Amino acid sequence: MTLTVVGSINIDHVIRLAQFPRPGETLTGSDYQIVPGGKGANQAVAAARAGAQTHFIACVGDDALAKTLVEGFVADGIDTQAIESISGVNTGVALIQVNNEGENTISLAAGANARLTPEQLQRHSGGLACEQLLLQLEIPLETNIAAAAQAKAQGARVVLNPAPAQTLPDTLLSLVDMITPNETEAERLTGIRVKDDAAAAQAAAALHAKGINTVIITLGARGVWLSEQGKPGQLIAGFKVNAIDTTAAGDTFNGALLAALQQQQPLMAAVRFAQAAAALSVTRHGAQTSIPYLADIQALLD
Ligand code: ATP
Repeated sequence: MTLTVVGSINIDHVIRLAQFPRPGETLTGSDYQIVPGGKGANQAVAAARAGAQTHFIACVGDDALAKTLVEGFVADGIDTQAIESISGVNTGVALIQVNNEGENTISLAAGANARLTPEQLQRHSGGLACEQLLLQLEIPLETNIAAAAQAKAQGARVVLNPAPAQTLPDTLLSLVDMITPNETEAERLTGIRVKDDAAAAQAAAALHAKGINTVIITLGARGVWLSEQGKPGQLIAGFKVNAIDTTAAGDTFNGALLAALQQQQPLMAAVRFAQAAAALSVTRHGAQTSIPYLADIQALLD
């Protein structure tokens, strides 16, 4: 099976602080790092490190850091032929604050990610003749719709991680085979607050009603709510670890999930594999720096 990720690339500027500043307040952090990030990039890296042959369609700016980012993808074995450098714009930027509880706040400037238009996508449409397509929401919505429509028409399984949270048109949702919202994203899409298992089941049912066959709601340290159309949903507990930074937990989950499905693992086993990968990622700092390799994931599963 082949996997194509269409999505964003960001440079993350990360500051660690005891607590988040309130509006108007200035606080001094303990540490500053520049780390490769972006939901598309993180998910492509997570899939590749978990063993998937991964093709990535994306845009970077013409700044110095872009070259380093792409070299990093090549080192992870990702096919980068469809990553284009757009002149006159910056690579996407994320300003991330992480507090002592390992929680984060994130501000984004889209930069080159906004230039991944449907026209730009067409230049690399060969990559959409894939078996699995993985999408997120840090590039223009119309590009995601075009990618999903083309990949689906060619028989791909279309997987949407609907992050960052936003409402979505049925034109996109009707093309999706599997959706992986966290609790906030599930609430944004369905209007149902995922406060317990019954609410998770209701939110999943609302997404099934949009024509989506498989719904996986990620619940942080609790694990995931897994629901397939026509079957009762269930909570699958996560791995117990000492979390220090949850940045990219969801991205690691998504990339690893598709890697396991690419290797023909049954859905339940693939979810467990993805949860192991995501649990490892929260024990490490940063976005791509925290994403584990196959051997580490297998060691946690054994
Ligand atoms: P983020 O935005 O921080 O990347 P997210 O909100 O998209 O994450 P979560 O639901 O927080 O996604 O986490 C995704 C998966 O990661 C969870 O389903 C779980 O398997 C794993 N995970 C997250 N936090 C923890 C934790 N503290 N301990 C163990 N596993 C965790």
